[in-house]
Amino acid sequence: MSAGRKETCFLTRPTPEGGERRMPIGVIHGARPGERITVFGGQHGTEYAGIEASMRLFRETDPADVTGTIVVSMATHVESLMNWEQFAPTYPEIADMMLEAATGSQYIINCHGGEFTELMHPYVICRLIGNEAAEAVAMRMARALGVGIVSLSKYRGEPPPDPSGARPAWWLWPKKGLCDKLGIPEITPEIGEVGDRDDKLMYDGIVNVLKELGFLPGPAIQFAEPAVIGDRWWLTANQEGIWFPVVTTGEDVEKGQFLGEVRDFFGTVLQRVEAPERAKVMNMNIGMPVKKDGFLIWIGQL
Ligand SMILES: [Zn+2]
Repeated sequence: MSAGRKETCFLTRPTPEGGERRMPIGVIHGARPGERITVFGGQHGTEYAGIEASMRLFRETDPADVTGTIVVSMATHVESLMNWEQFAPTYPEIADMMLEAATGSQYIINCHGGEFTELMHPYVICRLIGNEAAEAVAMRMARALGVGIVSLSKYRGEPPPDPSGARPAWWLWPKKGLCDKLGIPEITPEIGEVGDRDDKLMYDGIVNVLKELGFLPGPAIQFAEPAVIGDRWWLTANQEGIWFPVVTTGEDVEKGQFLGEVRDFFGTVLQRVEAPERAKVMNMNIGMPVKKDGFLIWIGQL
């Protein structure tokens, strides 16, 4: 029996401007043959917990313990990491490299979290792709991740063009992902916030998923069925201003509860923000400035 091995490489693609994009990849070839999984960290380069967890997964996993193959993309969007760029678009070259890294795998974990200006209550997106078997496996992966809150996300077509150019509420209009293209289960942990480098929740969750799927020796911790987020509200600013929230992520708020206000420089209240329904604060902008139609807070019914 082999002891397995690790290898590293950069995937590369030329850009139309004559430059080159790179994606650092580590492959852990397990001691025993088996399935393959791809773990992406840092599709958004200011979401650090997933980058830390991905790097640690590659660094600390002993191939002798692995059955099958674990492909790890340490920093999927290198430019956004190195340039501290929030909400960076996934350029076509990056999407193409992600497809290459995931092709041949039976599972995908795509680590996300709060960007530099965001607080985030941990949850995991389970992608619905219209294939019941794959969705059931994705739900099993989501449960094994251990954060206890799941968002079911399904591709629903493209959003209508927004004349303001504002970022649409992405979960209402999830793009087709690798899971749709490859027809395999994918989960997106949303763990970590505002520069948080604590990888414990993300790393432990990924390791438990790897145990659940048989890549690492078990037993996996068997968590209770997670709560599924029902209705959700994405609250935005109706004009440019300075944002003063009075709640934080993880709080349960009542219908009509005051969540914060947008003021001008001199203290005039431009917008008073209240909870439209009883819900949990999942994600919010912690940065002071907000543009018209810019994100303030989202709350979800649990
Ligand atoms: Zn992200």
